[in-house]
Parts: sequence; C-alpha cells; structure tokens
Amino acid sequence: TAPTSTVTLGDQFVRTLPELALPWQADEVAAPNLLVLNEGLAAEVGLDADWLRSPEGLRLLVGNHVPDGAAPVAQAYAGHQFGHYSPRLGDGRALLLGELVDVAGRPRDLHLKGSGRTPFSRGGDGLAVVGPMLREYLVSEAMHALRIPTTRSLAVVATGRPVRREGLLPGAVLARVASSHLRVGSFQYARATDDVDLLRRLADHAIARHHPAAADAEHRYLALFEAVVSAQASLVARWMLVGFVHGVMNTDNMTISGETIDYGPCAFMEAFDPATVYSSIDHGGRYAYGNQPRVAEWNLARLAEALLPLLADDQERAVAVAVEALGAFRPRYNAAWSAGMRAKLGLPDGLDDAAVTPLTDDLLVLLQANHVDHTSFHRRLGAAARGDAEPARELFLDLAGIDAWIARWRALGPDADVMRQVNPAYIPRNHLVEEALGAATDGDLGPFERLLDVVTSPYDERPDREHYASPAPEDFGTAYQTFCGT
Ligand code: AMP
Ligand code: MG
Ligand code: MG
Repeated sequence: TAPTSTVTLGDQFVRTLPELALPWQADEVAAPNLLVLNEGLAAEVGLDADWLRSPEGLRLLVGNHVPDGAAPVAQAYAGHQFGHYSPRLGDGRALLLGELVDVAGRPRDLHLKGSGRTPFSRGGDGLAVVGPMLREYLVSEAMHALRIPTTRSLAVVATGRPVRREGLLPGAVLARVASSHLRVGSFQYARATDDVDLLRRLADHAIARHHPAAADAEHRYLALFEAVVSAQASLVARWMLVGFVHGVMNTDNMTISGETIDYGPCAFMEAFDPATVYSSIDHGGRYAYGNQPRVAEWNLARLAEALLPLLADDQERAVAVAVEALGAFRPRYNAAWSAGMRAKLGLPDGLDDAAVTPLTDDLLVLLQANHVDHTSFHRRLGAAARGDAEPARELFLDLAGIDAWIARWRALGPDADVMRQVNPAYIPRNHLVEEALGAATDGDLGPFERLLDVVTSPYDERPDREHYASPAPEDFGTAYQTFCGT
C-alpha cells in the first residue's frame, strides 16, 4: 500500500505576525526528481521517508502539496547588505511552508528555496539550480556534524526546468528545516514600520521560540538581546575554530536563534590566513575569515537599534542599555574561542590564561607565515601529543619555529583523545565540493554522495578516505571563488 501523508504544518508565524507574512504558492513542478533525502532528519521532524519519496511526498518537498490547514508564506524582512540598508528584501525565491514539531517537541520551520517568484523577487527569477542547492545541503549537514548550530537540509529535488544563469542550468528546490527563519533583518523590517506593537509581538515570538529564559527576566527585551548576542558570539567562535567563511554576513543572513543560515558563497579556509575571502562580490574583504567576529558585532548593533523602542521609554536610556549589552559580545566571543582553542590543542582545564594566550597567539603567527592547512594541522597535532610530531611538523618550512612551539605545548600535557574528538579529519574542501557539484549537475550523484558520507562523519578517520583529508592540489589555484545568488 502507498504510504499516506500524516503531515501537519503549523501556521503560528503567519497567525502571530501577519504583517511579516505574505500568503503565497510555489511554482508548479511538472516532473520532480528527488536528488537527495535526509532520512535521519525526516525522522527527527516526524516525516515518513518512504512517504516523502512518493509522488505526493515529492509534491510536498517542492511546495505543490499543501497539507490541510497549512498556509505557505513568503516572509518579509529588511537588511544591511555589505553595509547598505535595503528596507524590503524578503523571501524572493523561498517560502515558509509552516512549522513541524520535532521528536523533542520543539517547533521547526519547513522552508523551501527555489520555489518560484514572489512579491519580494525584485529582478530575480525566484529559482535555484542544482549545484548551489546541493552545496547548501552538503555544507549545512557537514556543519551539523561538526556540532555547529545550523539550519538543516531535508531534501533537494530537481525540477526538470532549465534555469538561465551563465547558460542554462538544471533547476532545483531545497527543502530545509530550521528552528526558525527569524533574522536580524526581520527586526529591522518590523522597526521600520514604526509599529511598536508589531515589534513587541515579534520580540515576544522570538523569546517564546528561542530564548524562553528571557521571559522571566526583569527586562525581557534586553534579556532577548543579550541572549542573541551570546548565541551569535558562540556561533561565530565555532566558525572561526573550524575555518568556516560564511561569505555573506548581511543582517538578513543572521538568525535570532544562533543557527548558521543561508549558505551561498561560503567556503572552508585551507591555509590559515585571516584575510581569506572566497566570494566573488566581496571586493573589500568585508566578510573575510578574520573579520567575522567584528561583522557579527556590527550586525548585532543593527539589531540593538531595531529593538531600541522596547529597551526603555526614553531613547537616551535605551541607547545606554543597548551599548552596555553589546559590550558583552567581545568577552563572550573571546571566552568561546579560547575554550574551543584549548580543546583543539587538547589542553587540560585549569591552565592559566597567561600560559595559554601567548601559545595560541604564537601558533597563529606560525600557521599564517608557513601557509599551513588549518584542518590538517590540528588533526595531525593529535599524533604529536602521543609523541609523533612528524605529521604536523612536515607542514612547516620553519622547522625550528614549530619545534620550539611543540615543545612548549607538550610541556602543558595535551590530551590526544580530546583532540581527536574536536579536530575534524574531514571538512567540505572546496575542490572536492566543486568536483561533486560539477558531476551532479551533469547527472552523476556518486561523488556528491561519497563526499556527503565523509563530511557527515568528520572525526571518523579511515585509510580509504585519505584523499578527502588533503588540501586542494596546486592546480586548483589559490584564487578559488564562490558566487552568490545562483
Ligand atoms: P541571499 O544573499 O541569497 O541571502 O539573498 C538576498 C535577497 O535576494 C533575498 O531577498 C533573496 O530572496 C533574494 N534573491 C536571491 N536570489 C534570488 C532569485 N534568484 N530570485 C529572486 N530573489 C532572489
Ligand atoms: Mg539570505
Ligand atoms: Mg540566499
């Protein structure tokens, strides 16, 4: 018997915040073809994988089957893009289908990308293509496996419809799951309406959904802001520790939940260098690897501005309160980064900052000067904790420099077992991602499936996976570029 749908999608967002939700429908997809399905995630959000593979299930995954009671919407938001404010961005090629309840009882958004034009599309075609949607699927699932908060990917479905980019490319729809799609830009949009009731409803919704402890605070909206500052400081520290470059940290691409969102021109750094940029449109390096903490703080200042009317009755007081709360970002970020770095170096608890800080500072100088692959170094350093320094050492030209550093580090008693659990052997390396997406675009999903398998068990080192651990070959070039909005 054919599996039947028991999908129930909530409409809490549209009911609570109708001003931010435009009821809309996905384009009709005549011949949906499932490219990849996340069975584990499906189970986690109470969806039957066999049903999702059925014709009706595929129609859900492209937005053509709308379960009873569901109300798909395009969400409105504003945002600063590369520092310039746009009052009206919104879902120009995406739809919120509604909320699922996961096995832990938490609401999770089911959202589509590439589902057709909406009133927010401006000049865009509302569509997405196979390569970039598989890229979001792969990288977001790798991030999740690296224990970094992120939106998740449920499926990519090819539409059979060619999309005009540089030439014609196969179209696709990504179905993703997120704890919500509330962004800094959602608050900017609400603030710009001058409707304080709407702003308050949005803040209350965000508190209930993401930061419930704030509801009990004396100043609940200040507590909400503090919670977002904390979540983002921790998130960006995790990106930095793993070498992730988001690439387009506009305020519309920063969540209130603290999940990574909107994988466009993102990439993983190989040779350690704070100036690393991959996005073809990031000419000034605004979103370079080393700038990410500063940009996060800047974006949070924009969130604070949007929240001002809720922070105090008089403006001057509200500004003072916001500035003080934003001041927590740097110490919170530094603490998260230092704790993560100590774990990466396998250092025991209780060491004095005075011992650890110069050690990590000197390491970053050595890594940069020697163009050392960030991921390989940390993974190989685990062997040095057990006595075999050669695998890490051979990554350096300045052998005297790294030998002296390793001696200092070993004197602190590093633990190789801790290191193996926090330093991945495998990240989605740019040359492997490009190879996999190129093959998939040409109809061969094999390389994508193998790469997905490796990067979703990133600590599970195996001899037959050695090729996935190596940096890009010389001929891949150091000027690798990624592209937005494709
Ligand atoms: P992004 O940089 O991908 O987060 O997108 C920024 C804005 O551009 C959002 O409002 C998107 O919905 C919109 N957008 C991106 N690509 C397209 C497209 N192909 N068609 C319509 N809108 C788009
Ligand atoms: Mg976006
Ligand atoms: Mg996008």
